[in-house]
Amino acid sequence: MRIPVIAGNWKMFKRAADALDLVKKLTPMVVGVDDVQVIVAPSFTVLPSVHGALSGTRISLSGQDCFWGEEGAFTGEVSPGMLIDAGCSHVIIGHSERRQHFGETDETVNKKIKAALQAGLIPIACIGETLQERESGDTLAVLERQLSFGLAGIPEEDAGCLIIAYEPVWAIGTGRTATDEQAQEVHAFVRGLLARIYHPGFADRLRILYGGSVKPDNIKGLMSCTDIDGALVGGASLSAESFASIVKFGK
Ligand code: PEP
Repeated sequence: MRIPVIAGNWKMFKRAADALDLVKKLTPMVVGVDDVQVIVAPSFTVLPSVHGALSGTRISLSGQDCFWGEEGAFTGEVSPGMLIDAGCSHVIIGHSERRQHFGETDETVNKKIKAALQAGLIPIACIGETLQERESGDTLAVLERQLSFGLAGIPEEDAGCLIIAYEPVWAIGTGRTATDEQAQEVHAFVRGLLARIYHPGFADRLRILYGGSVKPDNIKGLMSCTDIDGALVGGASLSAESFASIVKFGK
């Protein structure tokens, strides 16, 4: 059985006071939800204080990115070990905004996933096609490339904890969500790819999240799809009310 995951990606929002305010509002709202794994991914600077505010709750903390080295002359980078120090158990890797604006490639995604796993972090590895790729019929080929390069050289015994997030780039922050059918079709394809890369039993256990304008009013439909195991939520995770309502999709 795959336990659903709802992860909030706060992106470059919420300075210290607002981050703590959000956590303080959110935590009582999701008390008692013990059949969903809840994760929040604030910016690097507020990780330790958010970690403190999450103490005693079931909410996990994630970084939004990491570097692939543990230490060295890499100005501006944050290593997996540093994220662990800050209280993280998870890290988002390969988000499309990093691919679009910061030169992230399948190769760097692969290095980061390996480094995160080695340090003991659970990667939330993002894949997804652009609008142009979808319109030219390349969606599945793009996902196959991103997934096979992203997971290259990662053995099954290390990959078992991975979380995959399928996020069509055209649906991120646009208010345009993939239909339940479009999302399910891709999720089933991704699970099939994972079965080919590893094996079917392994693929059946891995959680695959959907991301792209997930809101309280579309989460139920998405979660009713066989191969959708949760959501990576951007905009709607910035309000305690909307994020809590997404977390409580089954209630
Ligand atoms: C995201 O940041 O991963 C995301 C899916 O954003 P949004 O929910 O705002 O589309």
